[in-house]
Amino acid sequence: MQDLKLCAQDNRGIHELEAGKDLFGWHEVTQGSVLPSFEGDASNIVHLKAEERNYSDYNSYTATVASWRVKKPVFNIDVCIDCQNCWVWCPDSSIISRDKQMLGIDYDHCKGCEVCVEVCPTNPKSLLMFSEQEELETALSQWPEKKKKEK
Ligand code: SF4
Ligand code: SF4
Repeated sequence: MQDLKLCAQDNRGIHELEAGKDLFGWHEVTQGSVLPSFEGDASNIVHLKAEERNYSDYNSYTATVASWRVKKPVFNIDVCIDCQNCWVWCPDSSIISRDKQMLGIDYDHCKGCEVCVEVCPTNPKSLLMFSEQEELETALSQWPEKKKKEK
């Protein structure tokens, strides 16, 4: 079963973005304000994996938008060929891939747009959309068979 906390640092998705809830609007931030994305020395940040970075509370990594989603992509590792198409095309950087191996979905930041499913080339697809409430194990048990080519 897919681990929902895959590659997560402790502070990933700890804040829920909700209107009027302890959030500053852009017009409340005065000119010259600095909102650091990382705590401490960030000069080497590009060489660190996402889960190794020390994100600040201002970074969107610490916020979750999971409640916006009504459908979610489910990943089936048994069909995946690690082509990385989903990782390249996901508009929210919500595909977790390490060393060119697809590991799963970052459900704290995925908005359920379905782009990853569209671009997945396998037969059957290795990513399919299911209702947000569907259990992952139940979704995987309903995976379609390989479609035969029409002659
Ligand atoms: S549904 Fe959209 S946001 Fe979520 S992982 Fe797929 S491409 Fe990314
Ligand atoms: S696009 Fe499909 S086959 Fe390619 S890495 Fe993503 S899930 Fe795997």
